[in-house]
Amino acid sequence: MSWLKTPKQVFFVKSDEQNPCPICGSLLKVIGSRRRCYFQDNGERRVLMIRRLRCSSCNRIHHELPDLLVPYKRYESQSIEAAVTGSAALTVAADEATISRWKQWFSDMAGYFAGVLISIATRYNKSVEGVSALPQSSLQRIWHFVGDAPRWLARVVRPVANANYWVQTRSAFMSG
Ligand SMILES: [Zn+2]
Repeated sequence: MSWLKTPKQVFFVKSDEQNPCPICGSLLKVIGSRRRCYFQDNGERRVLMIRRLRCSSCNRIHHELPDLLVPYKRYESQSIEAAVTGSAALTVAADEATISRWKQWFSDMAGYFAGVLISIATRYNKSVEGVSALPQSSLQRIWHFVGDAPRWLARVVRPVANANYWVQTRSAFMSG
């Protein structure tokens, strides 16, 4: 797997509290907005306006990412989550090729996501058992931190994107 050295854009997931710059922690100023299209699981296209923000200190541009989206993915995170877990309730109106790209993307990324969640938990001094004590599979490790209740993928995206750890694989770059 090849990683891009620097992500093209930095996202952070919007929440009610005022988020600091994911890179340097300074204040962000709203400098505009842009359209972000996505598909609901029924295949209906939606457009959101996403705020563009500039850091008052390092000048990096950030984009708010609503909870229901995954960076660079055109479908809601719930649709991707259903495909990844092979949920029987999968009703997403995406073609087979798109669904198998999601599965491949997640299987490529799962170990990385688990590692980031461990590192974030460690950084905030939450007690983390030894890695060997954690479940074996990457998905189980991820669920150890975010739980396996519905919308778990959104709960992975939030800390990873907000800590500026979001990376994009080349293979996933053209995927939906
Ligand atoms: Zn900054």
